[in-house]
Amino acid sequence: MELQNLNVVVIGAGVGGLAAAALLARKGAMVTVLEAQDYPGGCAATFAREGYRFDAGATIGCGFHDGGPMDMLGKELGIIWPVLPEAVAWQYRHNSLHLDLPPQRLGILERFPGSAPFWKEQADLAKLLWHLAEGGLSWPAKGARDLARLARKGIAGLPGSAYLLTFATKTVFEWLAFHGLDRDPDFVRFIDAQLLVSLQTTSRYANAVNAAIALDLPLSGAYRVQGGIGTIAELLAGAVEDYGGAVLYRKRVIRIDSVRRQVFGLETSDGSALAADFVLANLPPESLALLTGMENKPEVVISECKQWSAFILYLGMDPDLFSTLPTHHVQIVGARGELAEGNTIFVSFSPGDEPGRAPQGLCAVTISTHTRPEPWFQAQEKGRAVYQEMKRAFTEHLLGVLSEQFPQARDAIRSITAATPVTWERYTGRFQGLVGGYPQTSLFKVRGPATSFDNLFLVGDSIFPGQSLPGVVTGARRAIELLLQRNKKTVREQ
Ligand SMILES: Cc1cc2nc3c(=O)[nH]c(=O)nc-3n(C[C@H](O)[C@H](O)[C@H](O)COP(=O)(O)OP(=O)(O)OC[C@H]3O[C@@H](n4cnc5c(N)ncnc54)[C@H](O)[C@@H]3O)c2cc1C
Repeated sequence: MELQNLNVVVIGAGVGGLAAAALLARKGAMVTVLEAQDYPGGCAATFAREGYRFDAGATIGCGFHDGGPMDMLGKELGIIWPVLPEAVAWQYRHNSLHLDLPPQRLGILERFPGSAPFWKEQADLAKLLWHLAEGGLSWPAKGARDLARLARKGIAGLPGSAYLLTFATKTVFEWLAFHGLDRDPDFVRFIDAQLLVSLQTTSRYANAVNAAIALDLPLSGAYRVQGGIGTIAELLAGAVEDYGGAVLYRKRVIRIDSVRRQVFGLETSDGSALAADFVLANLPPESLALLTGMENKPEVVISECKQWSAFILYLGMDPDLFSTLPTHHVQIVGARGELAEGNTIFVSFSPGDEPGRAPQGLCAVTISTHTRPEPWFQAQEKGRAVYQEMKRAFTEHLLGVLSEQFPQARDAIRSITAATPVTWERYTGRFQGLVGGYPQTSLFKVRGPATSFDNLFLVGDSIFPGQSLPGVVTGARRAIELLLQRNKKTVREQ
């Protein structure tokens, strides 16, 4: 079908769904985005509460560097992103070890001098991967054409880089062991804490190639999004409309109608029905399965590791508490316990002088930790008192870890609200509140956009390359590529 006559419905106005919608609308397709909430952004939304504007989940803008996925997307859509580079991406703290992560590795090399060869390899690998990702990544490859394209790009991009291929099947821990770094518990803990927030798993399971890109973030640049991270989704929603598409809010899709391998329409909770030639679902596959009434079995097993949800505190605070920090983000690994479940926290605060983010003289703070969803849903089933007690205990635990590094923290708090996996499920429609995408343990066992329906594709952080703004934008390009190929094939067959 001519692109101009192609009726595409996107379920969900997360960054992945909106990026796909805007790019397709720009190409001329008729695009409608249906969003359950009354604001866009999903995990990367900014919401208003009692005079504050809190970032719901994501807080750091990444991929905005020259040639990065967000930079390229903005240029293509004519969006000027309101982002400012952070001098230091974030500060890492564990007991007395305080490490700033600026766009150079000087501080890390000073503290861990033996790690220099590891970082050299990481930089080479990241350079090759950024080059491969330019203009979209044809992965997981669909046939010989995609593989040949990748090989051509790789050879042209970095001659002499063939040895980097050996990393494709390595874990980060094997990579560390190769350099003798596995024997330094401080270094392994530092790397594990970085991988947990970016790849949803730690060095023993994380794939080395995925890690090379994740560990590159402080170097390629972390950005502060003015007005909160949700501004990105708001601008993308504006672009969809500028290119002739529509973004409809309070439109929760409750059913997808299909015959055999073809989807033909959708129904929303307010009783509307829409026809569609193609559907892009900005949802995890488990949530999509609930809409199609069928099990959308992934083509391959994603990972042996379980996925995470998040426990988050949204606080109004006195910004003076953080006045000595060189950045707006600090990652704290507590003195005791395994990583996650409140023992590692990521703290982000709005600048005290940013208009509209907080009442005069205060700042909006987000503190997050990884948590498994099951105990939260079990607590909810046991009744309000049990659930509230669990929430209270987690809140105390997080504030305890914050106070290890900022002893005055409790005195600086003016207001506090908590979100659990139950909250995440309610506000993002993600099954069991599973956020952050899949644990990135293998390059080969990854899910692509295809589903068991010919004209229904996934976008978002449950498909390769996974979580983060640049991640879901790269995945959205792949989904569009496959959608357009499928459309061409259908036209040829008719
Ligand atoms: C705590 C946390 C911190 C993070 N930190 C960062 C960070 O600092 N930087 C970074 O780049 N990334 C970060 N991420 C990851 C990033 O936020 C996500 O990977 C990304 O935003 C996911 O986008 P998505 O396209 O998958 O859509 P989602 O964000 O999942 O959005 C999906 C949208 O679909 C809507 N929806 C769901 N069901 C329906 C339905 N049935 N009908 C209609 N609409 C529906 C939802 O309301 C939602 O708006 C973080 C994530 C979390 C949870």
